[in-house]
Amino acid sequence: MTMKIRIGNGYDIHRLVSDRNLILGGIHIPHELGLLGHSDADVLTHAIMDAMLGALSLGDIGHYFPPSDPQWAGADSLVLLKQVHQLIRDQGWKIGNIDSVVVAERPKLKPHIAKMGDKLAAILELKPNQVSVKATTNEKLGSTGREEGICAYAVVLLVASD
Ligand code: MG
Repeated sequence: MTMKIRIGNGYDIHRLVSDRNLILGGIHIPHELGLLGHSDADVLTHAIMDAMLGALSLGDIGHYFPPSDPQWAGADSLVLLKQVHQLIRDQGWKIGNIDSVVVAERPKLKPHIAKMGDKLAAILELKPNQVSVKATTNEKLGSTGREEGICAYAVVLLVASD
């Protein structure tokens, strides 16, 4: 009997710097700092993509979108997400649900959380209640607590599409 479900987890962190936009879950969030990266550095979307790939043991996003490749410079991570989604669909899988958490001391993400979930659900052609986005601070502890960066964790359940 073949396995009908697969689970994957993803993690990402990017450094906070000035003169960069803060993009989380494809949503631009007003803040004096933004995340540094080769692409738009959308840590939430990156964690979700790694969870999707991990569920099928397909490696990680660095393999498909290497930072050394100039074509991904400044890339919209939602475009990459669509490509990863197509990859898992091509292998006969669909997303059951996603749960994620963003760890950021500032800014307050609560006003933006629903928009992030809705945006990701729309891109992935899912119902809003299939995409959970949560936010927490790190209680001022560690690198995220010192506002040196923002990180994100994601878990994705895939279901065989047949
Ligand atoms: Mg990343």
